[in-house]
Amino acid sequence: MSLEQQLNTITGRIYGKNISACTHVQLYAGILQLVKERMAQARAITGDKKVYYISMEFLIGKLLSNNLINLGIYDELERILAENGKSLAEIEEIEPEPSLGNGGLGRLAACFLDSIATLGLPGDGIGINYHFGLFKQVFRDHLQQAERNEWIEKASWLEKTGTKFEVAFGDKKVTSVLYDIDVIGYENGVNKLHLFDLESVDESLVRDGITFDKTEVEKNLTLFLYPDDSDEAGNLLRIYQEYFMVCNGAQLIIREMKEKHQDLHKMNEYVAIQINDTHPTLVIPELIRILTWEEDFTMDDAIDVVSKTCAYTNHTILAEALEKWPLSYLEQVVPQLVPIIKELNARIKKKYDDEKVQIIDRDKRVHMAHIDIHYGYSVNGVAAIHTEILKNTELNHFYKLYPQKFNNKTNGITFRRWLLSCNRELASFLTDTIGEGYKKNADELEKLLEMIDDQTVLDRLAEIKRGKKAELAAYIREKEGVELDVNSIFDIQIKRLHEYKRQQMNALYIIHKYLEIKGGKKPSTPITFLFGAKAAPAYVIAQDIIHLLLVLSEIVNNDPEVSPYMKVVMVENYNVSYAEKLIPACDISEQISLASKEASGTGNMKFMLNGAVTLGTSDGANVEIHELVGDDNIYIFGKDSDTVIGHYVKADYVSRDYYENSPVIKEAVDFIVGEQTMKIGHKENLERLYKELLNKDWFMTLLDLEDYIAAKERAFADYEDQQKWKKMMLVNIAKAGFFSSDRTIAEYNRDIWKL
Ligand SMILES: *Cc1c(COP(=O)(O)O)cnc(C)c1O
Repeated sequence: MSLEQQLNTITGRIYGKNISACTHVQLYAGILQLVKERMAQARAITGDKKVYYISMEFLIGKLLSNNLINLGIYDELERILAENGKSLAEIEEIEPEPSLGNGGLGRLAACFLDSIATLGLPGDGIGINYHFGLFKQVFRDHLQQAERNEWIEKASWLEKTGTKFEVAFGDKKVTSVLYDIDVIGYENGVNKLHLFDLESVDESLVRDGITFDKTEVEKNLTLFLYPDDSDEAGNLLRIYQEYFMVCNGAQLIIREMKEKHQDLHKMNEYVAIQINDTHPTLVIPELIRILTWEEDFTMDDAIDVVSKTCAYTNHTILAEALEKWPLSYLEQVVPQLVPIIKELNARIKKKYDDEKVQIIDRDKRVHMAHIDIHYGYSVNGVAAIHTEILKNTELNHFYKLYPQKFNNKTNGITFRRWLLSCNRELASFLTDTIGEGYKKNADELEKLLEMIDDQTVLDRLAEIKRGKKAELAAYIREKEGVELDVNSIFDIQIKRLHEYKRQQMNALYIIHKYLEIKGGKKPSTPITFLFGAKAAPAYVIAQDIIHLLLVLSEIVNNDPEVSPYMKVVMVENYNVSYAEKLIPACDISEQISLASKEASGTGNMKFMLNGAVTLGTSDGANVEIHELVGDDNIYIFGKDSDTVIGHYVKADYVSRDYYENSPVIKEAVDFIVGEQTMKIGHKENLERLYKELLNKDWFMTLLDLEDYIAAKERAFADYEDQQKWKKMMLVNIAKAGFFSSDRTIAEYNRDIWKL
């Protein structure tokens, strides 16, 4: 059946109409059905060994466009719809975004599933079917408010399966239900994302915003994704969620092995389990529990085979983000695992004296990462510098015990979403210029380097960028009610709000620039500063930084003397869909975390691929971007990670010294509590932030501020030389191939999974 016939059949069946008579909403439902039917017919990826990627988060984003691309029917469908007077782009807008993750960690898991299927590797995701994704952010009175984020509709990507498992929390038993989402590789077969849920969950428990009754787990277990990012969530419900996921995951893995008549004693020959950060760590004791209690394994055998099956990915060196659960919490939630965890601890204690490598510490807290490192066969960091810091500093005690376990896997992004789908103009220009090969072999982007002196290529790149800026400007006009100057420089910082990511440093720059313009020093090219960021509702200083940004945007945009030269926009509810609109329109990519703190970053890679130039510190994958593009095609500033780590070790960073010794810094910081901001903003928020910067500044904003200002001025000055800028764009695109998650996954498979 032709695509058009198939769609007409479906819309006829559901709505009794053909394509041209359907509304966009009806067509969305029809195309969803069509894609599901096509995916059901596609080849299931199989093989002798399979990887299970277990993660509390899969920030998959909208799926329609990507699934159409991977099925190879996007262009044809777009044409069919156009012939019927319909717009595929508008239909795509109807899909609600499944925001089942906080940020980079969850988005990475989603990119990995795409690449695993694209490479034709057997590999499924295991996670939780949160009824409400990451909260919806709205701004009121220059403050962030959190609202529930519904995403599950009658027709969705979720397929309810017949799979049910019993999960025990001590004496309390619940029955899970499994939903699957098909994951189709680019011109390849299908894997699954398994999302576990509870039928007894009660959405009506939710009161205003995202508060809900926390008493009955049966009713609230899968209600919400925890909105914390890089912070430990000290709540029992989080442990309930984690155990629920791994208990279901372990049962699923064992059931699949049994269906394939595989010997559980050789689990490691058939299965690899990748543990995404410490959140799924309990899968280790849970598997040991099942094997010893239900499969007659000896403790030695169970520990041995599980340790050869599980591999751990570390995502952060922030101490507050490493999970350490009080043993009493585990006794309360999963008493059945406590004897096993104690046994795992006892075996380590017998072998090693060093207190720093124990699983249960003297305060009776269980260090989840320590379970993973002792009882897993691989420990990987997510960028070269991050892995080095793990080996030499943060996890040095473990590295000395198990040097062979440590390895680096620099993160990547799927080019299907972050190029082919979000920037169709650039993708099709690249196809015309260097051929189709880059879509399957991202390194072929380097062919573009041969065209660095080809004026038509350079001009076309600039033209595409301008087109995407115009599209974004139209979208922002409608959504945020702000008029952007398409001729201005688009300088963008989008990522979770966290002090280590230093949005506050960017805010101080904006104050500096504002005062400069007020003083008569006007930039030759206007600048648009764009932000997008959600802050964990419990993270007070992060809320204050959002407040400052919103207050600043009001001051700047409403000042007739200044607004022709600069604008500041903080977009509401930054998510994957917004990222897909912002990234292709970016000129300057802000990656300004305090060196040593951003494990990798993946936003940096998305921007580079879309022809933005990075302005960043020597942190995470910025270091590798720098190596790839060379000094001339990136703006690097700030103190390096060794210097920063030295300051922490010696505890000798005093932000007030920087404030007092620099009139530029002082002026910018004082503005936070000046007359203009106080008139619009809240004294409490602004004063708290001001004091934080002066008295604490744990992430050393003032350390790098002057260098940051200088680097930005260099970048803006270079932008004036458009010929030079176009070449920088070209080099960044050409060198981005390394950051394809296909490369990352090929490395995971080569070194860790061996499928
Ligand atoms: C890529 C992505 C992130 C990660 O961004 P970083 O800059 O690496 O922190 C976070 N949120 C969304 C929606 C993303 O698409």
